[in-house]
Amino acid sequence: MKNKIISFPHIGDYCYFVKPFLENLTSLNVKFAPPITKKTIELGSKYSPDTICLPFKYNVGNYIEALEEGANILFQFGGGCRYGNYAPLQKKILKDLNYDFEFYELIKNGKTSFSHIYKTFKSINPEITKSKLIKELILVFIKIMLYDHLEHYRRKKIPIEPEKFKKLKYKFINNLKSQKNIFRILKTYFIYRKKYKKVRCKKPKLKIGLIGELYTSMEPFSTFDLEEELKKYDVSIKRYTTVSYLLIYKKIFNKIAKYKVRNYLKYHIGADATYNVYRTLKLKEKGYDGIIHTKPFGCTPEVGVIPILSKISNEKNIPIMFLSFDTETSNTGIKTRVEAFVDMLMMRKEKKSEKK
Ligand code: SF4
Repeated sequence: MKNKIISFPHIGDYCYFVKPFLENLTSLNVKFAPPITKKTIELGSKYSPDTICLPFKYNVGNYIEALEEGANILFQFGGGCRYGNYAPLQKKILKDLNYDFEFYELIKNGKTSFSHIYKTFKSINPEITKSKLIKELILVFIKIMLYDHLEHYRRKKIPIEPEKFKKLKYKFINNLKSQKNIFRILKTYFIYRKKYKKVRCKKPKLKIGLIGELYTSMEPFSTFDLEEELKKYDVSIKRYTTVSYLLIYKKIFNKIAKYKVRNYLKYHIGADATYNVYRTLKLKEKGYDGIIHTKPFGCTPEVGVIPILSKISNEKNIPIMFLSFDTETSNTGIKTRVEAFVDMLMMRKEKKSEKK
């Protein structure tokens, strides 16, 4: 195989940090899969089993488009739930389509370890050492944590000039992504944190929490960019699901979440569903005006949690809108529902303030 080119599926902005991570470890050319479009999901759906989860189809679409652009080494990073078992089937689908490629899973059967990651990279680049891998893992981890931290801030704010704030975000990513020194990474973060705080913002009209399934939470295309849509109505957003949450907070809060939801859930019900119950209670406590729950059509854990969330919504008097996405979902339909939900929350808020 000549000219080895690595690629991997998209999920939000994280690709910007994964690319230098893979480049530094493999010394090979790493190319983004083409940006997700309608064609991506059409391709993914065409070659995936009908009833399989939507993220699987997006990934297959990304892989096909990347292979068509010359990629011949593919990575799968997904883990947990059915996501952790995507890789063997995706590999078979692509091999059946006669593509010539190598396929690597960093998370195998839902689990990973340092030795598995090391062996994976060693088989691609025999020069790699354990200390180099540790260094790169630490660097990518810190970059993602800092990126997520500023994104939490950005989601909450309603900038007077949204486009300027968006440009600032990409400047931050561009400055951060290829840094190879922890002190420079931290310096970049502090410089941009200052810049973010200087952005002129207005008071949000509403506060909405976003909960739900992992992929629809983190990949904007899969929800027709729900966060941007909400920002048009001056909504401050709180979203818990990020890569930092998956890597650290989920593990730390596991026991706390289980304890806090004990009145509603006796057992863990898979993926992020238990946490979504916990988050709903937390958002209510924090005075959020409403919650939007997103999931791909047929996502078992999130379908299972809907009756529990509806119960909390009635008991605690916090409105929750449930949005389900599949390949047929229309952008206009989602926009209309978001607009109606925001209107309802505004009226509710006005009535509440009149009573005071
Ligand atoms: S969380 Fe839902 S969409 Fe994601 S892998 Fe599990 S069932 Fe599929």
